[in-house]
Amino acid sequence: AKKNGRNRHFWFEASMESELRFRSELETGIRRGVATGEFVPYYEKQIDLATGDLVGFEMLARWNSPTLGVISPDLFIPIAEEIGVIAQLSESLIAKALIDAKTWDPQLTLSVNISPVQLRDPWFAQKLLKLLVEANFPPSRFEIEITESSLHENIGLVRSMITSLKNQGIRVSLDDFGTGYSSLSQLRSLPFDRIKIDRSFVTTLPGNKESATIVKSIAALGKGLGLPITVEGVENEEVLRELNRFGTFKVQGYLYGHPEPADRTAEELAQLNLL
Ligand code: C2E
Ligand code: CA
Ligand code: CA
Ligand code: CA
Repeated sequence: AKKNGRNRHFWFEASMESELRFRSELETGIRRGVATGEFVPYYEKQIDLATGDLVGFEMLARWNSPTLGVISPDLFIPIAEEIGVIAQLSESLIAKALIDAKTWDPQLTLSVNISPVQLRDPWFAQKLLKLLVEANFPPSRFEIEITESSLHENIGLVRSMITSLKNQGIRVSLDDFGTGYSSLSQLRSLPFDRIKIDRSFVTTLPGNKESATIVKSIAALGKGLGLPITVEGVENEEVLRELNRFGTFKVQGYLYGHPEPADRTAEELAQLNLL
């Protein structure tokens, strides 16, 4: 028994050690990847249900790791935040995305996700505007997405930042709506242009009374506050039918395709005469 215990202890330490080693390899890889441009923008279509038109894209980060393959942002964004490279990573992705988006039809918008770490930087608005000016990209075609969970601290700073971005014509969405714990007070105190309903309420929509009630209520809330709504995670026609009962939205999700890199996106746009 004693020997067994020591074995367990040994294995525990061994797996801790390999986990730590993996983590530090990831950190090194991310730092190097940021420096060498391994992070690339993918694009997810956004459709206006009222017209059926493609109206823009959400940029979603991917890491083309030479050793690990294509890596999801859920893995590398939190690490990039912790090791202090998120701003550099995000700015280089936005710069690439602006170059891509400039080749698209001028009606199409570009939406990007912003980390709470970036929002804490008092120079964030200026940095963003500089990127737009350098790319000669109209701010009116540009939108940022901020999650509820990034708004706990420094509401005053965030409010003045959002206001100065809006004064330049950039729109600001409240992302992952409904998953935080102070959604409603944030809607009242910050001048958002749009609400994005989190996909956890959407993928469960068919046959789930609770999800239907929540989506319906958010739709009513948006209507009452004069805020347009984007619904993410629309995977099939059944969800679309449900949504049509509640109002009219911008939608995105696998029903319209998975996020694609710049070249595939351009190919699709060419077919639609939107390039
Ligand atoms: P998000 O902003 O909520 O983005 C939606 C996520 O849902 C994306 O995952 C997208 O690929 C996925 N998705 C789209 N349609 C469907 C669908 O029909 N069904 C399902 N099940 N999923 C769908 P992705 O690309 O893995 O991104 C995950 C999260 O990473 C994003 O969530 C966003 O919060 C964050 N993220 C992505 N790019 C960036 C970035 O450049 N900066 C920052 N700070 N965060 C980013
Ligand atoms: Ca988003
Ligand atoms: Ca979401
Ligand atoms: Ca999210």
